[in-house]
Amino acid sequence: MKFQSKLPDLEVTIFSVMTQLAIEYDAINLSQGFPDFDTYPELITRVEKFMREGHNQYAPMQGVMPLRERIAEKTYDMYGAQYDPATEITVTSGATEAVFAAISAVVQKDDEVIIFEPAYDAYDPVVRLNGGIPIYVQLKFPDYNVDWDEVKNTVSSKTKLIILNYPHNPTGAVLSKEDISNLSNVVKNTNTFIISDEAYEHIIFDGLQHQSMSRYPELAQRSFVICSFGKTYHTTGWKIGYCLAPEPLSIEFQKIHQYLTFASNTPIQLAYAEFMQKKDLYLDLPNFYQQKRDKFLSLTSESRFKALPCKGTYYQMLDYSQISNEPDLEFSRRLTVESGVAAIPPSTLYHQKHDHKVLRFCFAKKSETLEKAAEKLCQV
Ligand code: GLN
Repeated sequence: MKFQSKLPDLEVTIFSVMTQLAIEYDAINLSQGFPDFDTYPELITRVEKFMREGHNQYAPMQGVMPLRERIAEKTYDMYGAQYDPATEITVTSGATEAVFAAISAVVQKDDEVIIFEPAYDAYDPVVRLNGGIPIYVQLKFPDYNVDWDEVKNTVSSKTKLIILNYPHNPTGAVLSKEDISNLSNVVKNTNTFIISDEAYEHIIFDGLQHQSMSRYPELAQRSFVICSFGKTYHTTGWKIGYCLAPEPLSIEFQKIHQYLTFASNTPIQLAYAEFMQKKDLYLDLPNFYQQKRDKFLSLTSESRFKALPCKGTYYQMLDYSQISNEPDLEFSRRLTVESGVAAIPPSTLYHQKHDHKVLRFCFAKKSETLEKAAEKLCQV
């Protein structure tokens, strides 16, 4: 049978490739981003309770109401933003589903979409599947700041969408208030939408405040704000996220969501709704992960790797230019096979495979895992 691939140049996502390689060579897996410690037992107990109580059929398409209500409360508490649980909040099967639905809701043939690189690998293919044209803007190495003049020069009447992802995966950069005012200037008087992937909203360090799009009415009215429960409750495998958007945008979003998955896992949604009332858990997450970041930094400080700034997310970029001249893809492979530590080569997150001789390490790991990994890294 003959057929033409819709995405001929696309390979298997680097997150699967590196995890597979780590398993094959029995390496410590600091590549794909997920905790190696378990979620809260009380959360599991609640999921089981709802299953046993018979909450095992379809949830409403938009998500169970108690969860949408808790999400609305949290968003108001954290960012002072009001989203109506009845019409402006949609629970999805992971933030990745929400990204797909939001892009598909707004991007039409030949629409331009601004993507900042390095970029999480889910954005570009979905833009292209919808006939859109990705326009890439490079974050400035080594701080990965945005050059707003460049963005201003790139935005035109063809710009349908800007995709943001802060705290930023893979670089750990965050948005400042100045970034927000620059962004506001760029989109003022345009019909440009924003997708703000805020999966790591609760993982931000050194007392910094997360600059959610929802905080700023001028930005929020054009934004799909996408969040993830997996990152917050150490449950990446449960695949539940959500999207906040003003009603007209949520209507379009739900037109796609209803035929992507229809609805997401019912007992887990009900369990999260109860569990979200323990506000301390997400409020303490910056502290929890900052300790892990600092531990990883101090354990690797004697190595030949050089740490780049990490202000948020559970990823640390390490520069290996003092160790090797190899391209990051080759070096990450060799590090996995010969030294027993797997990491993500960020060149795979650039359309032109920019190689800055850095690797991304996930520090959402038990202390003993970080210690073992650092011991190996210190010998490289
Ligand atoms: N978001 C996680 C990461 O960046 C996992 C991605 C994935 O496995 N698709 O590593």
